Order: sequence, then structure tokens, then C-alpha cells
Amino acid sequence: MEKETCTFSYCKKPEVTEVECDLLIMGGGMAGCGAAFEACRWANEKGLKVVMVDKAATDRSGAVAMGLSAINTYVGENKVEDYVRYVRNDLMGIIREDLVYDLGRHVDDSVELFEEWGLPIWKKGDDGFSLDGFQAKDAGKAMLKDGGTPVRSGKWQIMINGESYKVIVAEAAKRALQTNREKTGMAQNHFERVFIVKAVKDTNGKNVAAAIGFSTRENKIYSFKAKAMICATAGAVNCFRPRSVGEGMGRTWYPVFSSGSGYAFGMQAGAELTLMENRFVPARFKDGYGPVGAWFLFFKAKATDSFGEDYCTNKEYFDDAVARYGDYAKGLGTAITSCRPLLQWQP
Ligand SMILES: Cc1cc2nc3c(=O)[nH]c(=O)nc-3n(C[C@H](O)[C@H](O)[C@H](O)COP(=O)(O)OP(=O)(O)OC[C@H]3O[C@@H](n4cnc5c(N)ncnc54)[C@H](O)[C@@H]3O)c2cc1C
Repeated sequence: MEKETCTFSYCKKPEVTEVECDLLIMGGGMAGCGAAFEACRWANEKGLKVVMVDKAATDRSGAVAMGLSAINTYVGENKVEDYVRYVRNDLMGIIREDLVYDLGRHVDDSVELFEEWGLPIWKKGDDGFSLDGFQAKDAGKAMLKDGGTPVRSGKWQIMINGESYKVIVAEAAKRALQTNREKTGMAQNHFERVFIVKAVKDTNGKNVAAAIGFSTRENKIYSFKAKAMICATAGAVNCFRPRSVGEGMGRTWYPVFSSGSGYAFGMQAGAELTLMENRFVPARFKDGYGPVGAWFLFFKAKATDSFGEDYCTNKEYFDDAVARYGDYAKGLGTAITSCRPLLQWQP
């Protein structure tokens, strides 16, 4: 490639840095930071090298950069089986139930760790009213792991003071990586501003042995050789042209920085992308673009169509959706809630 297409006439030939490790984590978002924290717990003892690479600055990278108002799933007093039922209905049956079950049975451990690391979580006050995370701390309310009662908005979601959510989680990951670095004598194992673009296979042509990335700040190329890799570089935004016009065109709910580079990474190496059927097109409401969950669960909004009808309760729409989608329509999952008026208009 280099010989045929690139003569380096536009920029100086970049310096190439090689890094070798046992586990490479690509993406330092919520999943990447979680994986780094968990992996280091095991790897540190065994002297295994863990490296995490992020294309941005880990403290504020990824979809949680701006902070969040809630954690979508805390099972708590509910049953994991019911969580699987809820997800199955919400995604109209297109799920891997085993994976959802696994997520359900582990998620509370993660949420409780977030609270231990300093994330303020809303709690129920003695009078039954909500205390935000700081008020709950001041009032001496118990932590979740000690039986504290979170404030729910919906059956599965709990409320947080989440402005610094990502900073808190990144700090835990960075601390774990630092311990790993000290134990294994690596010069560096946390790379920021390095964009991974390519998978390289080993000589047998079967396994991915290295990931190549470029620095977004310096004229440098990195080659990360690893025995195992986790690709946690998030999803892809703007695959579909928005219906919005003018100034609204550039607005999306999800970060435009989710470029789908992780999918490209896997595809280039021959991976089959399965369970990609779940496309999410956030609804556009007057003065806002957003996930319907926030509008319905948090703001308790009534959603009306252009005829002024509440499209969630409109019998005509409901009967039509039941005729098309059976019991899934009765459960009023996200796909149905967002799309019911559109379904009605289909020929
Ligand atoms: C506006 C908004 C509100 C939300 N509200 C909530 C909420 O209230 N509650 C809730 O639970 N969830 C909420 N979510 C969802 C939640 O933020 C995501 O599910 C979660 O952050 C996904 O984690 P992730 O690690 O998969 O991806 P991300 O956190 O997006 O991390 C991906 C990481 O990969 C890095 N990366 C990408 N490509 C490359 C590459 N090629 N090379 C190197 N690094 C790369 C990025 O810099 C980033 O750090 C919300 C999301 C948004 C956008």
C-alpha cells in the first residue's frame, strides 16, 4: 500500500511506535473503562499486560462525555427474568436472551461500584419524596450495596447526579491501568488521542494479531500487538439522513463522534456482524431531539401527533399495530412507541 499510493509528499513520514501486550482494549468509553478495571483485577496478579487506547481524552470521551441523568438499568428489587422479558418485548424479540440475562445478573455490581467511586445516586427520603444524590449523602442515606432505596423513573432506571459520571469511571480505569503498568514494567499502557483504523492478522492469516492506529495530535503511527483484544469503540451515528432540515440537520441525539470505526475494524478482519438489526432513530419532538424514554419516563410527556391525538392511547393506531405486530404492540416497547404514527402512515 505504502509504495503504491503514498509517497509522503504531503507530510513527513510518521514515526512508528510498537507496543506489545497481552490484552488490548480499543475504546476508553464506559465499556472500555469497565473492561480495563475488571481485566486489571485478574491481570495484575498474573503479571499480564493490559493496554487501553482511546481516540479522545478518556476523562470525557464517548457517549457519557457530557454526563447523564440516569442509569438505564439497576435490577435491585426486580427479577433478572423479568428484565429479559422487558428487553425481549422492547426489541420485539430480536435479542440474545442469554447475553441479556448475563447483563441483568451483573449490572447491579457495576452500578454499586460507581457509587463507591463517588457517583451520587438519588435516594428515597423518609417522607417518600426524592432526595438527589448530594441531599441523600447529606441525609446519611444508605448506599445501594447496603440496601439504600434508589429513586426510579420507570421500572428499571435509577436517577443520578451524573455530570461527572465519565470522569469518575475513567479515574477508576486509569488507576487500575497504572497499577498494571507498575506491576508489569510497561513504559505506557494508556494511550489517548490515538485512533485505531486497521486490524492486522498474524502469519497464519486467521487471527488478528495487531491493531494499527494514528495519533490525532502528533505525526505518529502505533502498532499494538496483542494476544487478545476487546473492541469497545461504540456504535455508528448518522447512518441515515435525518428528516430534520436547516439548522436541525446537524443535530443528533447521539454523539456524532461515534463513527462506526469498530464495525469497520471487525469487518476488515472478516468478522460477521450479527445482531445488527437494531437500528435506533431518535424521535424529533418540537424543540428537542431525543430518546423517547427520556420524554416519557422522565418528563412524563404526552406524545401527540399532528392531529393532536395522543398516539400511545389512540385506539385506531393501537388496533392497527396489534394487527401488524401482535403482543409486541400491547407491551408498548420503544420501537412501537417511537414508530406507531409512522407505521400508521405506511401504505
Ligand atoms: C445524550 C445521551 C444520553 C444518554 N443517557 C443515558 C442515561 O441517562 N442512562 C444510561 O444508562 N445511558 C445513557 N446513554 C447511553 C450510554 O451513554 C451508552 O450506552 C454508553 O456510553 C455506551 O458505552 P460504550 O463504551 O459502548 O461507548 P462510548 O462510551 O461511546 O465509548 C466509545 C469509546 O471508543 C472511543 N473510540 C471510538 N472509535 C475509536 C477508534 N477507532 N479508536 C480508538 N478509540 C475509539 C471513543 O473515543 C469512546 O471513548 C446516553 C447516551 C447519550 C448520547
